[in-house]
Amino acid sequence: MSDAAYLAATEDQVRVLREAGHIKRQLLAENPELSGQDVLGQLDQLVIDVSEKAERVTAELVAEAECRHCGHSVMRVGDSAWRHNAAPPM
Ligand SMILES: [Zn+2]
Repeated sequence: MSDAAYLAATEDQVRVLREAGHIKRQLLAENPELSGQDVLGQLDQLVIDVSEKAERVTAELVAEAECRHCGHSVMRVGDSAWRHNAAPPM
């Protein structure tokens, strides 16, 4: 892993854990009687819901095709420019 990728992955972890802590505090603020088990169950359910949403959004927005120049696979999100999935051949 490159230094830049390592830094990005570490920042991602911090962001995800901060978000989890934020959601936990929100759940407990809404219902202080929740047990630890309840909070973890709701976090698990949230992961399932958001993952399903991400799959739906991906199916809706991501288009894949074959590059008309080199035949490799290309993709685009929404109406952005087409990009090769991997580096195009030289
Ligand atoms: Zn190409």
